[in-house]
Amino acid sequence: MVAYMDHKDLANETIDEERARQITDGVHKVLDGIAEAESAAGREAGSVTLLAATKTRDVGEIMAAIDAGVRVIGENRPQEVEVKTAGLTRLCADRGFALGAAAKRGATLTAPASDDTFPLVPLPFHLIGQLQSNKINKVLPSVTTIESVDTLSLAEKIARRAVVRGITVGVLLEVNESGEESKSGCDPAEAVDLAHRIAALEGVRLEGLMTIGAHVSDEAVIRRGFAHLRETRDALRADIPSCRELSMGMTHDMALAIDEGSTIVRVGTAIFGPRAFI
Ligand SMILES: *Cc1c(COP(=O)(O)O)cnc(C)c1O
Repeated sequence: MVAYMDHKDLANETIDEERARQITDGVHKVLDGIAEAESAAGREAGSVTLLAATKTRDVGEIMAAIDAGVRVIGENRPQEVEVKTAGLTRLCADRGFALGAAAKRGATLTAPASDDTFPLVPLPFHLIGQLQSNKINKVLPSVTTIESVDTLSLAEKIARRAVVRGITVGVLLEVNESGEESKSGCDPAEAVDLAHRIAALEGVRLEGLMTIGAHVSDEAVIRRGFAHLRETRDALRADIPSCRELSMGMTHDMALAIDEGSTIVRVGTAIFGPRAFI
């Protein structure tokens, strides 16, 4: 168990009005910021999806974000996925959304699979934090896409367990564009080869690439990493048509990432405020 889970009931569903208003304002500001950045970059309105990074937030806080317009959520830790899924799934269904794996399999960000027999609108649930192989079975019943795949062996383990369950799981290849030691992600020089090997596996569908921006103040350095991820995606796309997403950009570098072609921004602090726990 993660230590802060002893101090905060992440399954809590009720928050006060003031907190709900803060979160609503946060979502609206971020959506406005995305629209501005799309326009400044000459990109089509709606081409960037907001993923709310919900680590340390409880079910009530997450539902306030969904009520304000968030349509994709991302968790870092399998334990948090496990604790929150039941409440989130039920409250999403009340609002007409099928959360994560509760949605019909095969739904992606750009092609939601809904039909007459399944009237709920899919609301994708991503895992964005490191995944140890002994936790794969904890997240597979809940998530639609695992963004933090950075080795062939992890992809193979996810694929094997997905095949056993008769499902296909979306994955993004995480690339460590900044080269910072503290970050996970594969070596950029290995990304193309690794992506091809992952795309060939049964049980997973390679949906794109993910990176965390360099932790520096020099914008040119941050941009270079994002631009390299985009070039890698462009090179892969000819052979792997499903490889279209670029998950890059967080609270502090969202506009830069959108200017460099991001299709998914992962935002926590700008929606929910500073985290009380790490
Ligand atoms: C926490 C987290 C985010 C969001 O970070 P903020 O700075 O709070 O917007 C995005 N991506 C990953 C992988 C994270 O762990």
